[in-house]
Amino acid sequence: MIKEIKDILKRNNLSVTGSREKILSLFFDQPGALAHGDIERKAGEKFDRVTVYRTLQTFVEKGIIHAIPTADNSIRYALCKDDCFEGHHHDHHVHFVCTKCNITYCLDDVVTPELRLPKGYISSHIEVVAEGTCKNCKTQ
Ligand SMILES: [Zn+2]
Ligand SMILES: [Zn+2]
Ligand SMILES: [Zn+2]
Repeated sequence: MIKEIKDILKRNNLSVTGSREKILSLFFDQPGALAHGDIERKAGEKFDRVTVYRTLQTFVEKGIIHAIPTADNSIRYALCKDDCFEGHHHDHHVHFVCTKCNITYCLDDVVTPELRLPKGYISSHIEVVAEGTCKNCKTQ
């Protein structure tokens, strides 16, 4: 696992620092997306808020993680698949927020639908967030 994290950093020409290793490892520790606040809390013992914020920004710029807007205006982040690169994200998938367990999932196989926009409007990014009950909470 540590090796995989180092590989990701190296592949993106990032030096391996304690904060980058720690924050990236959080994404491998659990399913679904991580809230900014959770990352801050989990990395907070060793790293200050500015470091956490900058590290996340760097990861987004490099195409390692993508941001997911949520209804309560907190930002969540999830790992990108291999086809994201620096400055180029290809995360055209729907996100699903389970209102029971509060986990945000990347539905990688569900492609964001095209929108028929009025003439003159060109969208550069479409975000679809579905809310409901996830498969793990369904039977409970
Ligand atoms: Zn991405
Ligand atoms: Zn759930
Ligand atoms: Zn996603």
